[in-house]
Amino acid sequence: MSRIRTSVNRWRAAGWLDEPLPPVRLSIEVFPPKTPEAAARLWQNLELFTAARPRFLSVTCGAGGSGAEGTFPLAVAIQERTGVPVAAHLTCAFASRAEIDALLERYRAAGITRIVALRGDPPKAGGPYRPRPDGYAYAVDLVRAIVGMGGFEVSVACYPEVHPEAPSAEFDLDNLKRKIEAGAVRAIGQYCFDTDRILRFREAIVRAGIACEFVPGIMPIHSFSQIRRFSEACGAGIPAWLADLFDGVPEGSALHGMIAATVVSEQVRRLAAAGIEAMHVYALNRAELPLAIVQVLKAARHGSRS
Ligand code: FAD
Repeated sequence: MSRIRTSVNRWRAAGWLDEPLPPVRLSIEVFPPKTPEAAARLWQNLELFTAARPRFLSVTCGAGGSGAEGTFPLAVAIQERTGVPVAAHLTCAFASRAEIDALLERYRAAGITRIVALRGDPPKAGGPYRPRPDGYAYAVDLVRAIVGMGGFEVSVACYPEVHPEAPSAEFDLDNLKRKIEAGAVRAIGQYCFDTDRILRFREAIVRAGIACEFVPGIMPIHSFSQIRRFSEACGAGIPAWLADLFDGVPEGSALHGMIAATVVSEQVRRLAAAGIEAMHVYALNRAELPLAIVQVLKAARHGSRS
């Protein structure tokens, strides 16, 4: 990380990204940092992300209430300081309808007009999801409310491997359809390491007549053990070939980074080759692998010209 930090100026001097981004439209997701040190690192990385000219940056909303305390000030600060449009994540689970409506007004007043509307998850020990009696029950209800207020562009989540609580793939796809019919314009995918599955999901969206932009989510693997934990929680699969690649490789080693770069580069290259025009990177506030993605996309563009 420190290597990246100290090299911001070197990258600039080298003319890194003097050329505009390729046609693939990249959005990059970050989360509110918990310590001043983590915040300083994030701002360094945001400088590099800004140089990559993403079409928007997005800021997650924690289940524990960071929607108001962490997400809002960070989203506003990023948009003001970088000039890159910011999408703020907002979950049904974190607040009452009145609180969410008030927060949306604050976003609008601050010039944040992109929202990623989500249901959210209960705290780990909280058992199955139960809608708050005073809240929006599901993402579709939140989308309806936001669109009803006017002036917002709404994205929603979708699941190439099916949401873990959905009774069936058909139900889940129909849920996506309802969210789009409620006025969302973009479906951002949960990360999925099976690229064929992402491409089949894209076809299923088209077959179901769901009129939205589909944006696959890309998860660079900065730490394989962390991704394994995330995947258990969110239902994303870890293919055997991926587990084999990281088997016995120490976390934080150069080899771990090389394998992770190879995996993410291959996925991004294949998606771009299949005509995917937009991707969403779960940066987890790290810069190295998201910037590798930018380089792959630049190279893919050059390849398509030769
Ligand atoms: P929904 O679309 O409401 O669907 C949730 C589940 O309920 C699905 O299984 C669906 O099929 C089912 N369902 C829908 N309607 C009904 C109904 N009427 N009755 C019964 N079942 C129903 N979480 C956060 O806490 N903060 C974030 O910032 C965040 N950002 C995310 C960004 C992306 C791009 C993605 C993919 C996920 C994100 N999440 C975030 C995680 C998300 O909150 C969880 O995946 C959550 O479990 C589902 O959210 P959803 O918006 O997809 O819910």
